Amino acid sequence: MPKERLSSDYSRFSKAELSFSYLHTNSTTHEFLFGALAEIVDNARDAGAKYLNIDVEKNDHLRGGNIIWFIDDGQGIGPTEVSDVIKFGRSSKRLHNLDSIGMYGNGLKSGSMRIANDVILLTKKDDTYSVILLSRTFLENEGLNEIVVAMPQFQVDSFRPYIPPSKSIDVHNHEVGVVLRYSPWKTLKDIEKQFHKIKGISGTAVAIYNLKLLNNGDTELDFKAVNNDILISSGNSWTESQTDNIDKEELLRFRVKALKDLESAQNDLKCIENLLREINSKISDLNKKTDKSLKELNVEINKEKLRASQVADEAKEKRIICQNLEKAVRQTKVISFIYGMKIENRYQDGIFIYNCGRLIKMYQKYRPQSELSLHYGGIVGIVDIPYQILEPTHNKQDFADAKEFKMLQKALSDGLIQYYKDMNFDTNDIEDFWISFGYKRNKQSWTIAPDPNLAKKRCLSVPKRIQCHDCFKWRIIPYGKFDDVRDDWRCRNHSNKQLANCNKKDDPPAIVNGGNLKKQRIPTFDEIEEDYRRHQRKLAEENSHTDMILSDKREQCFERISRIRHHSSENDKEDLVNSNKLNKLIPKRRGDRQQYHDMDSFSATKKRKTKSSSIEDAEVDVVSGEVDDDTSENTKLASNFKKCLEYFRPPKWNQSAEDIKRLTVQDLIRFPHKEFIQTYDKSLKKKFEDMRLERDTTNNIFLSLINSVKDFLRVLCNDDEHFARLTNGIENYSNEQLGRHYMSLLEQYQQQIQVKHE
Ligand SMILES: [Zn+2]
Repeated sequence: MPKERLSSDYSRFSKAELSFSYLHTNSTTHEFLFGALAEIVDNARDAGAKYLNIDVEKNDHLRGGNIIWFIDDGQGIGPTEVSDVIKFGRSSKRLHNLDSIGMYGNGLKSGSMRIANDVILLTKKDDTYSVILLSRTFLENEGLNEIVVAMPQFQVDSFRPYIPPSKSIDVHNHEVGVVLRYSPWKTLKDIEKQFHKIKGISGTAVAIYNLKLLNNGDTELDFKAVNNDILISSGNSWTESQTDNIDKEELLRFRVKALKDLESAQNDLKCIENLLREINSKISDLNKKTDKSLKELNVEINKEKLRASQVADEAKEKRIICQNLEKAVRQTKVISFIYGMKIENRYQDGIFIYNCGRLIKMYQKYRPQSELSLHYGGIVGIVDIPYQILEPTHNKQDFADAKEFKMLQKALSDGLIQYYKDMNFDTNDIEDFWISFGYKRNKQSWTIAPDPNLAKKRCLSVPKRIQCHDCFKWRIIPYGKFDDVRDDWRCRNHSNKQLANCNKKDDPPAIVNGGNLKKQRIPTFDEIEEDYRRHQRKLAEENSHTDMILSDKREQCFERISRIRHHSSENDKEDLVNSNKLNKLIPKRRGDRQQYHDMDSFSATKKRKTKSSSIEDAEVDVVSGEVDDDTSENTKLASNFKKCLEYFRPPKWNQSAEDIKRLTVQDLIRFPHKEFIQTYDKSLKKKFEDMRLERDTTNNIFLSLINSVKDFLRVLCNDDEHFARLTNGIENYSNEQLGRHYMSLLEQYQQQIQVKHE
């Protein structure tokens, strides 16, 4: 529905200095939709934003029914800078910081124009609100061939017009008219309200609207499928266009770019230095002039001097840029290639190329992977190219410089082949490998088995990790809990309460250094699972050290019991076997079988973890379910267990033998075995202590008895030899022997006395 034209005169509006057709060409460089969104995110990053809110606002009056908002708290764009934003390829901050990706203006324009027809940028800085409306709807409707941009400005406190010296109030009003007609908002009050979305003292809000539609009338982006997320609509065909011809459409160039940048910066520098020389010669020329009045001359000389100092500053800046670029060209950059098998979904294979952390190309298949080869399918390669080496271009005319990108492709292919070699598969192994993860080969394609166990196996092959929203530490998400994880997931949301703490150790994914790939055997499912469980056990051990000690004590106690029982009768021995079994069975209630499986998923409580790590074989027995299902067997076990309890009942236990006899199976399940064993242990120890004390006392009495016997004998014996013979081995005598010996000596002594008396 073409609207009536507003005016035919936009000569006083700001111009983007480019033709309208360029705007369209520029937007088509973003084959990938999210790449276009990323451009706008990059802008926020470059503006030093700490906060960026991407939101979708419903508005049925607009094509596509939604406005996409990007609201950041960056430095904003000041009243004098706004005109720079719309000048294509112009970016004042770009060269100073080689790590930043975005060319502020260009990314915004090409990115937003890829997604929608219109973009409005609301920015706040230096107490000024600035609007920048770049609307193709406006340009088309007004029949404009130039890119004309409406940029009205307002004072933050009063929302009264802000009129810079270069602009008149007429132009301002004209611009406001355009904005009210072609923006989603129809009154100044509405516009002001939108500015309030910027909460801080500076920041930028970008609204993209009149979204592009697919042939079926849907938007290219799907706002409804998943809450709080934006997806690419399934009808979107970007993948085909991306992969159909790699050589034709190159977004990347190599070092050529760095050299070109340097060359153009050097030219810039030369120009500015020439200009500086020119101004200086003009000044010296003015000094010689005699035909002008002194006042006139002074004015002119001062003007030129001011210009000279400005130009000198600019030259200084450009010299620094040149130096940085020279350094960048000389610097050796290491590019790491990362390869891996995409076990969870082998269809998502291919090469992913990032540029300074930003995804540029994905699912790319270069030779040999592109040849539908069995061997290389399912392999994923990742490479992040530093900005200094390669950068995305927005201009298709740069195809001629694709040489270096082809080199990168070749390096990626070589790496892929090397990775496959390093995996050390035989020809048949690779097929077995995929089959073992539930894939079935069907001529040239693969299908996937719906078996949940195999799905789990695929999933466990690489643990799922997420970063905490607060502490940025990596955490493993238990299998089966993936759906509960949201973008703002925090440690305290961890389903295992033991790990639900930001102070726990980081668990980052390990990435093998690409330079030292070693031959590796592919682990079996059991090994993977065992590995995973070992990892969890380790965590559990770290967290429940105290429980482990308790558990150790329990083991000792059992050992002691069995030692004692060993000396008992044969019948008792049988009971012992039962008792051990039963004790291990106590913690295994019916519900525990499920909980055992949950162990994989960290949800086990502290107690359960310790159990499973200390008496794992018993767990397995229970899991097999033999005991659970037989009631008569249960009753038998229960009565045996009660016998055990009666037998071992510690003297200080709060249940009498009669109490224990009356316990039901349910009571036994809940029986506080831990306390029981602890009490038993304690009384056993006390008994030992008592006995040791008793023995020590006896020993002391015995020793003093020996000594008095010795004293007695010494008196009795005439010589040392006789004494030695009599006391030989007396220490080894038992109590009884010593007594007997003593008695006989006493008799001898009495006889001797009688003889003496006689
Ligand atoms: Zn945390």
